[in-house]
This record gives sequence, structure tokens and C-alpha cells, in this order.
Amino acid sequence: MKKILYLHQKDLRIHDNAALAYATQHDFIPVYIFSEQHTCSSHQNTLITHAVHALKETYAANDVELITQTGSVREIVTALCEKHSITEICTQERADNQKLLSLLRAIRPIQTFITHTLHETYPPHKHPFSAWLQTIREKPLKPVPVPASFRQELESRSTMLQHTQKQQLQYPEIYSEQEALSHLRTYLETKKINGYKQTRNELEAAGSYLSIPLSQGLLSVRKIYADIRAYEQQNKPNEGTKHLLYELYWREYAHQTYTHRKEIHPNKPVRTIMPQLNHPLLCAIQQELEQTGYITNRARQILANALAKKYAYEWDKIEHYFAQHLIDYDRAINAFNTAYQAGILDPRDRIFNLDKQQEQYDPEHTYIHKWMMQKE
Ligand SMILES: Cc1cc2nc3c(=O)[nH]c(=O)nc-3n(C[C@H](O)[C@H](O)[C@H](O)COP(=O)(O)OP(=O)(O)OC[C@H]3O[C@@H](n4cnc5c(N)ncnc54)[C@H](O)[C@@H]3O)c2cc1C
Repeated sequence: MKKILYLHQKDLRIHDNAALAYATQHDFIPVYIFSEQHTCSSHQNTLITHAVHALKETYAANDVELITQTGSVREIVTALCEKHSITEICTQERADNQKLLSLLRAIRPIQTFITHTLHETYPPHKHPFSAWLQTIREKPLKPVPVPASFRQELESRSTMLQHTQKQQLQYPEIYSEQEALSHLRTYLETKKINGYKQTRNELEAAGSYLSIPLSQGLLSVRKIYADIRAYEQQNKPNEGTKHLLYELYWREYAHQTYTHRKEIHPNKPVRTIMPQLNHPLLCAIQQELEQTGYITNRARQILANALAKKYAYEWDKIEHYFAQHLIDYDRAINAFNTAYQAGILDPRDRIFNLDKQQEQYDPEHTYIHKWMMQKE
């Protein structure tokens, strides 16, 4: 019989988890390794810490220990493989973790699973998005069932984690798999999704906040897709459901583009030091991002566009800036969108007029006042 080490990465969940389904067919130990280098934002760090803690509890309720350690992946995995006579490592595969996979491959044979996107493979990459979307013929993969031994636990759990954030956050604290499932359920049951198209472009309270659990795999994108489709069957499709599904495909496209990332390359040589922002709308957005770790898509577009176009700040430095602050930072999605705003992927190479954006999205200056007040 195989003895498996299942290394959790950005798949901090039990539901729709093909890697876990595979591991549970064998004798296995689940493991999560916290990075010792502080590479992520403090907000993302909070999310990861809570999510891993919740996952540990779920495993414990099923008499399985999730081994958590901090340090070098190579050293920890090598030691665990020796200690537990591991014959194979199973883990998640993403475009942005290829180095890690090579490292693991040098320790033991590995089995990888693509579990963070709707499809496992795609037709050849194409620009623009609309042309690429038309090439997709297959339906997304269906979520895999929760391994039998875990099912009851996930469904019966209703306790939420006690969060310690003192600050008033602008987004829901979706820090565990249970909270993520409950958030999705509520979003559909209250029919909030129906109004998605009207709000998605706003400067505040715009979207579903699904990016938070998606970023660390607390929620499966295939489950989101399947649940929205089921909702459409019961309630008829509407503009809200249609547009949210469309955005999920933008997410896929971002991941696809990142996989073929030789197409994303910087163009003009530009400024390398973060500029001092001098427009009230930009200052307010910067304030919200740095204080809370979340800003809407509209705010992200405005900020990235201005940093690239108005201040000529290097686009990969903009990405790094977002990485330092966003709670839902996802390298592929961020690189794609930042490159897009910098004009590298957008043939229109648009420059936002900040006064017009302010007039359109914050006509009463309520957003600006709110965040500039916080600064003082
Ligand atoms: C400069 C810039 C940087 C960004 N960085 C990130 C990032 O690091 N992580 C991240 O998850 N998203 C990023 N986005 C995409 C988007 O802004 C966020 O996904 C969205 O604001 C998250 O809020 P929501 O879940 O309420 O979105 P909703 O509007 O409810 O959208 C639902 C889901 O669709 C997907 N989606 C929506 N818009 C986009 C988009 N433009 N590109 C790809 N997928 C999308 C996301 O998975 C999102 O959760 C970035 C966008 C820009 C312009």
C-alpha cells in the first residue's frame, strides 16, 4: 500500500478536493507548512492562520492530525518522509508553484492535482478574452464528493471562529472553509446575486467577496460555478448570475495568461520607487487598501492604472505593492490585471481620468472623506 504525504497549499478545504479524495484512498498524512519568510500581507497572514486552524479542527474531528510546521519545505518534507516511510507526495499544481513541485519531485515521486480552476486544461491561449472564451466547448469539471469519513462533520459544523480583528472591516471575515460555504449559501439564498450586475463596478460594496476564500482555496471555484448553475435552474438565469459566471471565466483567463506568461513582459523602462500619490481619490483608495487589505475591482483598476500611466511606476512593482497589502492576493490574477492596466495586455491602452472617475463613482465625496478621515 502507498503511504502518502498530502501537502496542502492553496487548497485549505475538504470539499471538492481531488487531492484529498486521492490521498484518502491510501494511508496518508496531511501537512501544511507555514512559510518562514514573511512574503504575504498581514491581512493574508490572518486569513491563512485562521483557515489552517479551522482545517486542523475539521481533520481532528475525523481523528486525523493535520501536521503544521513552519520553515523550509525541503527540510520539513524530507524529515516527514523519512519519519513516516512516505512513498509518494500528493499536492496541488498551479502555474505559480512549479519550483515547489520540482523541489518535491526530488524528494519522492509526486502526484499533482489541478483544483483551483474550473477546467484542468484549456484550448490554446488566445487574445482577446472574448475570442478565447468562444473556444471553450467543455463544461467545467463537477465538484468531487467529500470523502465519506468527512461528510457529516462539514455539514453539521456551525461554529464560526472567533475573530480578533479590532478594526471595522469593509468585507466579511471569511476565514474558514465553513464560513466560506456559509457565505456562498447566504449569497444565493438571499438572492443577493441578482443585483450583482448593478453593483459590480462600484467603488464600495461592489461584489460577492468570493475572492477572499478563493485565494487560499477555502472554497472551490467548481462548487461556486455548480451552485450558481443550480440556482439558475431553480430561479431562472438573470443578469446577476450571468455576469458573475462571466467574471469567473475572467479568473480562468487570468490563470491561463499567467501559464503562458512569456506574453506578459514589461514595455517601457520606468520609475522604481513608489510615488507619493497626489489625487484625493487615489489617496483614499491607498488608505483603504493599506488599512483593510481589500478594495473593489473599480478601486484596483483606478489605482493600478494611475500608478502605471500617471506615475510611470513599473508594473511588476505595482504587483508587488498589491501583494504586500491584499488579503485575496493571487499572483496569476494580480499579474494579469496589473499588466492589463499598465497597457501591456490591453490593446486600447486606456488612461483613466481621475476627476471623471471621482465624479462618476464618488460624486458626494463620501468615500474620499471616509478614508481621508481615517488617515488623520
Ligand atoms: C489591478 C488589479 C489587481 C487585482 N488583483 C487581484 C488579486 O490579487 N486577487 C484576486 O482574486 N483578484 C484580483 N483582481 C480581480 C478583482 O478585482 C477581484 O477578484 C475582485 O475585486 C474581488 O472581489 P469580489 O470577489 O467581490 O469580486 P466579484 O466581482 O464578486 O467577482 C467574482 C469573482 O470573479 C473573479 N474576478 C472578478 N473580477 C476579476 C478580474 N478582473 N480578473 C480575474 N478574476 C476576476 C474573482 O475570482 C472574483 O472573486 C485584481 C484586479 C485588478 C484591476
